[in-house]
Amino acid sequence: MSIKERLQALRQELPEGAKLIAVSKYHTNEEVLEAYDAGQRLFGENRVQELLPKEEQLPKDIEWHLIGTLQRNKVKYVVPFVAMIQSIDSLRLLQEVEKQCARLGRETLPVLLQIHISGEETKHGFTEEELQELLQSGVIESLEHVRICGLMGMAALTDDMAIVEGQFAHLQALFQSLKEGAFKESPHFTELSMGMTHDYRLALKHGATYIRVGSGIFS
Ligand SMILES: *Cc1c(COP(=O)(O)O)cnc(C)c1O
Repeated sequence: MSIKERLQALRQELPEGAKLIAVSKYHTNEEVLEAYDAGQRLFGENRVQELLPKEEQLPKDIEWHLIGTLQRNKVKYVVPFVAMIQSIDSLRLLQEVEKQCARLGRETLPVLLQIHISGEETKHGFTEEELQELLQSGVIESLEHVRICGLMGMAALTDDMAIVEGQFAHLQALFQSLKEGAFKESPHFTELSMGMTHDYRLALKHGATYIRVGSGIFS
């Protein structure tokens, strides 16, 4: 199947309100353009050094979502143009994004809080404990430019789909509880980003509003 055909097949599986992010990391501008010509506008990249040249060279109406680890010293490069940072994984990163928005004149920047759900050491994200600290820190109330729009998570890399489903169910429950709790006055807290090529169907079953699919489109 071509990139276009894979995109069309994926779109048909999306329930109302769910959006597809085409993860273009490691793929060429030509491949991105093929998806673009098939109507795709939301793209995800996980590394700043790969995102910056793509942003410069590719059409300006692409919405770039940063989905990978962001070092604080690189925040200033992405703040001017990214549609969303999905990988906010610490209080200090959140504060740096806020600071750079103010400095660079970015009025509003949507972000997601990345939650550690996989149980794996190597995956980034807030632990429940760190999340509680963030909620109690007063930092969220002080944000003027950063808009927290929901949660993002990555399930464990395993073929055991029962484990993956348990992790998605857990993130969905956390999202619901925050939506009705700490973020109940925030009309923007609506997004749940989870699911990749091998597990997006389970993620959709558990209420994902963004799925992030790379190899299922491009390779
Ligand atoms: C690479 C990546 C994806 C897409 O993974 P595929 O298995 O290729 O679909 C999704 N989310 C993040 C954070 C990624 O780094």
